[in-house]
Amino acid sequence: MILVLKNGVTREKTENLCEFLQKNYGVQTNTIYGSQTTIIGLVGDTSAVGVEAMQMLEEVERVMKVQEPYKRANRKFHPDNTIVRIGDVEIGGDKIVVCAGPCSVESEEQVLGIAEAVKTSGATLFRGGAFKPRTSPYAFQGLKAEGLMYLKRAKAKTGLPVVSEITNASQLELFLEFVDLIQVGARNMQNFELLKELGRISKPILLKRGFANSVDEMLMSAEYIMSGGNSQIILCERGIRTFETSTRNTLDISAVPVLKSRTHLPVVVDPSHAGGAAWLVEPLSKAAVAIGADGLIIEVHNDPKHALSDGNQSLTPEDFDGVMNRLRPVAESIGRYI
Ligand code: PEP
Ligand code: MN
Repeated sequence: MILVLKNGVTREKTENLCEFLQKNYGVQTNTIYGSQTTIIGLVGDTSAVGVEAMQMLEEVERVMKVQEPYKRANRKFHPDNTIVRIGDVEIGGDKIVVCAGPCSVESEEQVLGIAEAVKTSGATLFRGGAFKPRTSPYAFQGLKAEGLMYLKRAKAKTGLPVVSEITNASQLELFLEFVDLIQVGARNMQNFELLKELGRISKPILLKRGFANSVDEMLMSAEYIMSGGNSQIILCERGIRTFETSTRNTLDISAVPVLKSRTHLPVVVDPSHAGGAAWLVEPLSKAAVAIGADGLIIEVHNDPKHALSDGNQSLTPEDFDGVMNRLRPVAESIGRYI
């Protein structure tokens, strides 16, 4: 349920009202002070809260029932776009943020080289997996803590904040020290125990869509993190499983505007894992920018043919540079920039 307050209700009165609601109804409150209006979102078991009783409160202008099960992630609770900050980088504003780097961290030399190159081309975040959730137990599993250390060195050298995937809550301490944006991969989107742990920290989270999950399930996963108190979440569409086999996954491009209508959280697209082929990265990226994505996550490798994971879909640094140049006019055509 949402209470839209009358114009001119003071902060003090608003806080008193929240206290009253918490005490009398056992609900949690989520207040957004907008430039024009203040909105109080009621979270928890609101079954005992009557619309008419709320309507009679002197501070309240309007009462709205929220049908959707996600509350804190809901745009009705927070009409303005949320901007997530990772160091100096802001996601959710006019700038389209590009995160680039290898699928897996393979060596210190490799990440330092790629990080320099993608920075020169305009990327503002650097990615690299150190704990790799591979389909085969015999495939490269990642350099783990050593990999995170190399990422930190890449950050020290380039200034680019780093993104890496967590696969288990036991790694949290390492991630808090070495990583700026913690990625939850597609395979863990519904690992609710992990999501609850991430709700207790204050680092931003990159939540990737599970390949067999709906948009609303993704929003419920975001809600798990937000209900713990961490609302710095970026959502990522990375392709879903369909009957189509021409691409690794099917990029659900409509998920971008659908998500943007339902939530205030920033939405980015990963064209690399969606298409599964280097040549598809450019057209899928152009589509993502044109449809309103707030950012892109692109795999870049110095030697894709010999990459330890996802070489087929990785761009060389030179190809990445070309893609970035050709994306800029697309962003400008919709009043944004890269
Ligand atoms: C990745 O980003 O390298 C990755 C494994 O992505 P996803 O979880 O989307 O498959
Ligand atoms: Mn990958």
